[in-house]
Amino acid sequence: MMHDFLIIGGGIAGLSVGAELAALGRVLLLEAEPQLAYHASARSAALYEPRYGLAPVVELSLASEAAFRAMPGLLSPRGLMILARADQDAEFRRDLLGFQLDEVPVETARARVPIINPDRVARAAMADHAWDIDTDRLLQDHQRRIRAGGGQIETRAQVVRVHRLPGGWQVQTAAGAVHEARVLVNAAGPWADRVAAQAGVRPLGLTPYRRSMARIPAPGGQDVSGWPMIFGCGESWYAKPDAGALIVSPAEEHPMDPQDAWADDMVLAEGLARYEDMVTEPVTRLMANWAGLRTFAPDRVLAIGPDLREPAFFWLAGQGGYGFQTSPAAARLAADLLAGRAPQISAPLVTALAPARFG
Ligand SMILES: Cc1cc2nc3c(=O)[nH]c(=O)nc-3n(C[C@H](O)[C@H](O)[C@H](O)COP(=O)(O)OP(=O)(O)OC[C@H]3O[C@@H](n4cnc5c(N)ncnc54)[C@H](O)[C@@H]3O)c2cc1C
Repeated sequence: MMHDFLIIGGGIAGLSVGAELAALGRVLLLEAEPQLAYHASARSAALYEPRYGLAPVVELSLASEAAFRAMPGLLSPRGLMILARADQDAEFRRDLLGFQLDEVPVETARARVPIINPDRVARAAMADHAWDIDTDRLLQDHQRRIRAGGGQIETRAQVVRVHRLPGGWQVQTAAGAVHEARVLVNAAGPWADRVAAQAGVRPLGLTPYRRSMARIPAPGGQDVSGWPMIFGCGESWYAKPDAGALIVSPAEEHPMDPQDAWADDMVLAEGLARYEDMVTEPVTRLMANWAGLRTFAPDRVLAIGPDLREPAFFWLAGQGGYGFQTSPAAARLAADLLAGRAPQISAPLVTALAPARFG
């Protein structure tokens, strides 16, 4: 059967665009792993902080808010806090501007997060505009919409060969299944450039960067549920309440080949030491650790649109550290472009996101 849209990748990118495309035609989504959302999409901090990233990313995140709000309870208040040492003035000022935060006395920050060490933290800033995203619910909802629209989702379906046909594409999976579609949507996350190369399409120069995470018990047995997401200024580490515990990340960006990433012990230890330096409670135990790949285009802006030379090859890649928070507007833009509809976002933003910018 000739499908209209064959999506490669069952993370948030593939599932969100699948949900939009199921209303437009026959969708087949192929995911290599036994589970959907196994890679980056299972390892995120699940935050919606629309002021995070470069201007086009911020615009896309802001354009996503209405769709999130249309699902009552999907976002829940978290808030944001930045902490700086006395020698971090320049970075602190940059963060204040970038995240649009208000500086507050350290004592005010301590009233919210009592483990802040006043001997180490010289300046603090806070904002309300950050929310937890219920990512499980979002992913489930997209799967339901794909199936309700008659679309198919197949796991254990790694695409290993891609052939151009006169009216579309033929792909073969590692298990030997063959599928055909009019349009190929590349939502393969860290593997997106490899999928392009398989299809004879020029890669964009995407780079996956590892970011590690540790889960630690609530410091001092405190109730952390109302704490904000806390960043060491200049994104030198971050910590966030998570199901009664705290997740702490060294916030590293370590370039890697696409793979099932795992946390680097040394990087984790150094990151935890940066966190510990700013708080009064030592880390006594790790409950778990993991890592995920954040995949960036060379200019750190997402790539959404048809390939410049091969219009039936559609890119939805380079989501970096913003794949969940941009997903509603990104998927909607992809569907608008594939349907030939006028995009809902501004024309300059469409151009800023177009893969054609890489020539
Ligand atoms: C530690 C960390 C914290 C983060 N925090 C946030 C946050 O707070 N907010 C936010 O918005 N974002 C955050 N992100 C970023 C977000 O997780 C990613 O941008 C997003 O998950 C990327 O989704 P994706 O679908 O593009 O990629 P992935 O989830 O990696 O999915 C790509 C899928 O494609 C499949 N695939 C690849 N090649 C093939 C093939 N040949 N055949 C079939 N399938 C294939 C893979 O198996 C994979 O499942 C974070 C990321 C990390 C690592």
